[in-house]
Amino acid sequence: MAEQGKTVREAIFVRDGGAVARSRTYHLTQRYQVRHEDVERMISAQHGLCVVCWDRPPEHVDHCHRTGDVRYALCLPCNTGIGQFRDDPGVVRRALSYIEATVEGYDEVEVPEAELAELIRAEERLRADFYAKVSRVG
Ligand SMILES: [Zn+2]
Repeated sequence: MAEQGKTVREAIFVRDGGAVARSRTYHLTQRYQVRHEDVERMISAQHGLCVVCWDRPPEHVDHCHRTGDVRYALCLPCNTGIGQFRDDPGVVRRALSYIEATVEGYDEVEVPEAELAELIRAEERLRADFYAKVSRVG
C-alpha cells in the first residue's frame, strides 16, 4: 500500500532513496539516450497509465525492436505481450479475432443497436482524445 498522498512510484522512490530512479536513468541513458526526467514527463502526459490497457502504471519504456526508437511507457504485461506478438499488427489482429471467436460470454450483454453505436462513438472519441494528449520522448 502506498503511503498517504503518494503514488506507488513516489513511495518507492522515497523508500529506496531514489535508487530505482538512478538505476533506471542509467539503463535508459545507456540504451536509449533518454533521461529519467523525460520518462517521468512522458508518464505524466500518459496520465500515469499504460497507453495500451489504461489500467496499470507504466513501468517500462517500450521501444521499436526494428529501429530502437523509444515509443511509450507501458505496464509489464502489455510490454511483454506486445513483444510476444512480435510487434506484428497482423498477429495482434488475429489474436483479437481468436479471442472474440472463442471466449464465451464476451458478447453476452444485449445492447440496442443505437445505444451500441453511441457507445462505440464515445469510446472512439475517448481514445482519440487520450492519444492526442500523450507524448513520446526521444
Ligand atoms: Zn498495460
